[in-house]
Amino acid sequence: MSEPAGHRCRICTGTPVPVHSFGMQPIANAFRPAAVSAADTYRFELAVSVCPQCGTVQLIDQPDREQMFHGEYAFFTGTSRAMTEHFARFAAWVRDEHLRGDDPLVVEIGSNDGTLLANFQQWNIRHVGVEPSANVARAAQARGIPTEVRFFDADAARAIVATHGQASAFIAANVMCHIPYLHSVVEGIDLLLGEDGIVAFEDPYAGDVLAKGSYDQFYDEHVFLFSLHSVAAVFARHGFELVDVQPQMTHGGSMRYVLARTGKRTPTAAVREYLDREVAQRITDPARWKEFGRRCEASKQALVSLLRDLKAAGKTVAGYAATSKSTTILNYCGIGPDLIAFISDTTPIKHGTVTPGTGIPVVPRAAFGPPYPDYAVLFGWNHETEIRAKEQEFVAGGGRWIRFFPDVEIVS
Ligand SMILES: [Zn+2]
Repeated sequence: MSEPAGHRCRICTGTPVPVHSFGMQPIANAFRPAAVSAADTYRFELAVSVCPQCGTVQLIDQPDREQMFHGEYAFFTGTSRAMTEHFARFAAWVRDEHLRGDDPLVVEIGSNDGTLLANFQQWNIRHVGVEPSANVARAAQARGIPTEVRFFDADAARAIVATHGQASAFIAANVMCHIPYLHSVVEGIDLLLGEDGIVAFEDPYAGDVLAKGSYDQFYDEHVFLFSLHSVAAVFARHGFELVDVQPQMTHGGSMRYVLARTGKRTPTAAVREYLDREVAQRITDPARWKEFGRRCEASKQALVSLLRDLKAAGKTVAGYAATSKSTTILNYCGIGPDLIAFISDTTPIKHGTVTPGTGIPVVPRAAFGPPYPDYAVLFGWNHETEIRAKEQEFVAGGGRWIRFFPDVEIVS
C-alpha cells in the first residue's frame, strides 16, 4: 500500500505542512579528505514541515541513523571548553534543584565522552550514561563512567532499572531533537523514572530560530526543532507535564525543558510566560514558517551577492569554524572554494578534510593568520563573543567579520 500524500507527524496523527526546502544536502558532519568527499554522492532533501495539529517543526526526510551516528563520530564534547563549563553548571543545577531522596540515580542519554556525567562522578552521585556512538562511549568508560553503548528506548530503560533501580533524573543535552522515534524514548523515561523523578533536557529553541532567522539549526541530525508547545504535546501522551523552562545562550539559543509526572510539581511562572510568547510569535503556524522560509531565501541571496562582490573587488575571504551548521548554509547557498578559500577550525580531526558537499578545505587555526584574510565568515556565530575576544589581532589589522544572522552584514 502506498503512503498518503505528505508525511505523517512523528509526534501525533496530524499531516505536517511542508514550509521550506534547503535543497539536497550531504551529512552535515561528514568532514572527509577531498578525494573521499568528492566520491561520496549521498544526499537527501533537507526540507522542513510544521504539524498544524501539535505544532511540531520537523524534517520531512531524515537519513538513516546509521549514516549519521557511526563508529567514527567526530564530535567529542570534552574538546569544547565552553560546553564543558556549561555542562558543569547544568549538572550542579540538577543536583541542587532536583535530586531528592537518598542515593539518587542520574541517567543521561547521548552522554558522549562523559563530560556532563563526570560532574556527578566527582560528587559521588550514582550515574549511568547511554551512548550509541562506540568511540565516544569508550572514552567515557575509560574515565570510569558507566556507559551503555546503545540507543535509549523501553528495553534500555528496563535493563538500567534491573541493574541500578529507578532514576531520580533523566537528562539530555542536544540529543532529544535528534531522535525521530521520540515516543519510544518517552516510554523508556516512563519506565525509568521514579514517581517523583524529573526530566531535564536542552535543545535548540524554535523561538530563537524564528526571531533570528538562524536556519543553520536545520541539518540531518536535528529532526525536530522544539518549542514548549511541541514538547508539552509529546510528553502529555505519556503522563508528563512541563514544570519549568529556562532559556540558554548555548548553540545560538536553546531551551532547557523540565518535566515531571502530571500533578507532581507546580509549574513555574516561566512556563506560562513562554507559552504566551509562543502564541504571540505564532510558533505553531505553518504560514508563519513559510514567511520564515522567504526570509531564508533573502538571506541566501544577500550572502552570495556579498561574497561575489568581494571576490570581484579582489578581496580574500576565509571562513571561521567548520561546524555542522555551516554545511546547511554552504550547500543551501551553493558556496564553494571559489567564494571562500578555506575555513579554519581548531578541531584536529577536521584538518586536511573539506566541507561536505562544497569542497572548501578545512585548515588549522594557524593558517587563519597572520597574514590574515581581508574578510572572515563567522560560521561559529553562536560563539561570537569568545571568537572575537580571541581574534582581536585580525580586526586590528583591518580584517572584517561577515555575520549572517539576524542579517547579512560586515562587522568590525
Ligand atoms: Zn503533530
